[in-house]
Amino acid sequence: MMPVARRIAVLGSTGSIGRSALEVAAHLKGEVKLVALAAGKNYRLLWKQILQTRPEAVALSGSKQALWLKNKIKTLKGKKPVVFFGSRGLEEIAGWKSAQMLLTSIVGSAGLIPTLKAIEKGKDIALANKETLVAAGELVSREAVRRKVKILPVDSEHNALFQCLKGIEKKQEVKRLILTASGGPFKDLKATELKKVTVSQALKHPTWSMGKKITIDSATLMNKGLEVIEARWLFNMDFKKIDVVIHPQSVIHSMVETVDGSILAQLGPTDMRLPIQYAFTWPRRLKASMRPLDFLALGSLTFQKPDFKKFPCLELAYWAGEKGGLAPAVLNAANEIAVEAFLSEKISFMDIPVVLRKVLMKFIKVFSGKFDLESIIYADKWARKEVIEFISNQRSLK
Ligand code: NDP
Repeated sequence: MMPVARRIAVLGSTGSIGRSALEVAAHLKGEVKLVALAAGKNYRLLWKQILQTRPEAVALSGSKQALWLKNKIKTLKGKKPVVFFGSRGLEEIAGWKSAQMLLTSIVGSAGLIPTLKAIEKGKDIALANKETLVAAGELVSREAVRRKVKILPVDSEHNALFQCLKGIEKKQEVKRLILTASGGPFKDLKATELKKVTVSQALKHPTWSMGKKITIDSATLMNKGLEVIEARWLFNMDFKKIDVVIHPQSVIHSMVETVDGSILAQLGPTDMRLPIQYAFTWPRRLKASMRPLDFLALGSLTFQKPDFKKFPCLELAYWAGEKGGLAPAVLNAANEIAVEAFLSEKISFMDIPVVLRKVLMKFIKVFSGKFDLESIIYADKWARKEVIEFISNQRSLK
């Protein structure tokens, strides 16, 4: 008897993770069906994806593009997908009635409200959009427990930890989680050289091919910082028990050390289709389409301590995570704007941590107390505005 396909909605289908998810779904035909797709501006690719997957619903950010798509869809034979647009569109796709699971693969805290919507509707979450857990980890985890919804990590490090933790019965038996990091393209540069790096250099990740924002975050090590906070919420683990190790080959995706000194690691190719597939099919494991790891071709695996001085973003993330409350939401939003400013060459690479530190310092003086969805959204907006102001007054960066 054919298994019933798991029905999945995707936010960010035209992005790096979204495109990989479509490949996984094509490979797992009969096991997985993508029923709803949301994208931002890339309406032409979304149209191709509609022809490929024949979803029930789609959404785009802009109304004009959505109109273009509607006209194209009229030419389709058979059942036609419903078209939405704007932030409502994201929510419609996130809560799409026939979907059992939502893959969150849009960038930034824009993923927060739709993720909460999906949880409210009882959908399991395949979580790539780490910024959601950074900004509102406590709230999202609490809602997931309340609605009995599973959050399955897609981020390769967390997917690795999730797999390793399966072999450990009691949380007290875990000594620490060890997140591996490639170190990005600049790990061997001197601090003085880091000041001169260009956008195109920062966009050349040594081991992974990803969207622009996460690639810059990998170069500053902010990505690892965001992942430390993500791990705190996914695995309910104290920050003191979450370490980062630089592992330039990106073969070990992360590790768990147990109290008796054993280390459990997950290894695999640097291909996001593997963690996406595992999240889609969990708890089952099915044959994948990519080549397995070839140990004999690997050469050596090396490890280094992260340099907090050269890469202050990692330290800032630990600080914000430990501070808790609204601090991670502020850090995350400020980082989104600072990365955009670097990509458009308004600030330099090493201005990113400077801007973030300034915003966090101001945040401590301005904010206190409340921690609900409304205050998270307020803090997110406040941080974005602060960064824009700092950047428009460049002298304050020095
Ligand atoms: P990309 O930039 O490649 O893709 C982002 C996707 O989100 C695109 O489909 C884009 O649409 C869409 N999008 C962006 N903003 C909006 C919006 N406001 N409304 C609707 N759609 C929107 O990003 P990645 O795939 O690299 O990353 C996605 C998330 O996954 C991030 O949170 C990242 O940290 C995380 N992640 C990514 C990994 C990777 O390997 N890429 C690995 C681990 C985690 P369009 O292009 O049509 O404008």
